[in-house]
Amino acid sequence: MGSLQEKIYEKSPHFIQNLIVSAYNVLAYKKRYSGKYADFMKYYKANRNLSLEELKKIQAKKYSEFIEYAISNSNYYKKTLGDLSKAKDISNIQSLPIINKETLRSNYSSIYTIRKDEGIVSKTGGTTGKSLEVLYTHKDVQERFALLDNFRSSFGYELGKNTAWFSGKNLLSNRDIKKNRFWKTDYIYKVRYYSTFHIHGKYLKYYLENLIAYKPLYMVGFPSTMYEIAKYGLAHGIDFPANTVKAIFPTAETITQDIREVLEGFFKTNLYNQYASSEGAPFILECENKKLHLELQSGVFEVLDEKNQQAKAGRLVVTSFNTHGTPLIRYDIGDQIELGEGTCDCGNNNPLVKEVLGRISDYIYSEETGKINLGNVSNCLKGVKGIIKFQIIQDAINEILVLVEKDEKVYTSEYEKVFLKNLRDRMGQTIGIEIQHVEEIPVEKSGKFRLIKNNVKEKI
Ligand SMILES: [Zn+2]
Repeated sequence: MGSLQEKIYEKSPHFIQNLIVSAYNVLAYKKRYSGKYADFMKYYKANRNLSLEELKKIQAKKYSEFIEYAISNSNYYKKTLGDLSKAKDISNIQSLPIINKETLRSNYSSIYTIRKDEGIVSKTGGTTGKSLEVLYTHKDVQERFALLDNFRSSFGYELGKNTAWFSGKNLLSNRDIKKNRFWKTDYIYKVRYYSTFHIHGKYLKYYLENLIAYKPLYMVGFPSTMYEIAKYGLAHGIDFPANTVKAIFPTAETITQDIREVLEGFFKTNLYNQYASSEGAPFILECENKKLHLELQSGVFEVLDEKNQQAKAGRLVVTSFNTHGTPLIRYDIGDQIELGEGTCDCGNNNPLVKEVLGRISDYIYSEETGKINLGNVSNCLKGVKGIIKFQIIQDAINEILVLVEKDEKVYTSEYEKVFLKNLRDRMGQTIGIEIQHVEEIPVEKSGKFRLIKNNVKEKI
């Protein structure tokens, strides 16, 4: 939504806001579910049980087409891959250069193959705190949703079935909060959007009561929010009705064993994990046997050690076939994975993954709004340009320190205002926020960058 629409939305009553949310979704869904979507859906449904050999053949063909497309349509890849012999041969992938977030950030205009108005812009900062704007073609988006919907539909999900969605959109007004109403409903597609910005002990009761009344068949979105609700229910001896939720599909955050047990136990259902990213990584999807499979038809997954040699566990470097707008070729996504062994009898012959590491859930705490999860914190970069990286350190309950690495040429005080407003939207008006501009934000001993450093967890 633009800012004028946002103002109109804020002033409208609850039922009009529900209508606006519905209408907004109709428009967004039209883009996702038109064009090639139905063809892709049919294709992936029919291809659920391909042999590993067939999957690898498809992967090699898609790889070759994708590299050729990138060389002919992206100035950046023309320069870096154009003169490489056999660049299009997947067996030669190790001879191509590895890129990372910094490469994307500093070269995006020459990497893009389309204009912004031709595609769909993904404005998220990712979970590492670096700002990034990725362009997708409409066809890319349709294929990505078909892949995801095919995964979810194997557990009975389809659009139009009662779904509780925990997303990073802030849809509530002050009136809603006064009335303890932390959701908006799209009545056309039967999706109820629960706010992930108000996860506070004093509000959780209302979330849970409403979820029990709404009877969602599926729960999708930030697992950290569902986790807080479930823990509240467990602590207060509330029994969530059995046979309500058919499956939980978490997004964006790491699922620890504890999170899985709490969610599956409290909501009396199964959780099926997925791994993808806002930059457009290929998919890793969990099957009915609770095993993670690489989806070879969505890209190439390389697991590399420090010397860039193939390993069983290490950095995940991806080439993603559904990123025609901003091609990702040998992209170091900043996560670690460990490959699995053997095969799975679920019918899916894609290789197994033992574990996806990284993206550990962390949060900032505000007395006013409660826990603000990693996904919502990283979204504070929406509408902001010129922040290379930021990190939030919380050493006291009532204040936070925000370290910012800025790009002097782009960053302005106007962007700082937007950034501060985004922070306030999530953390409330009373918490102290100090923004400090620094040359460089240090990484951890492990080499990992942490977006949030919460040092007050034991006080909460
Ligand atoms: Zn399986």
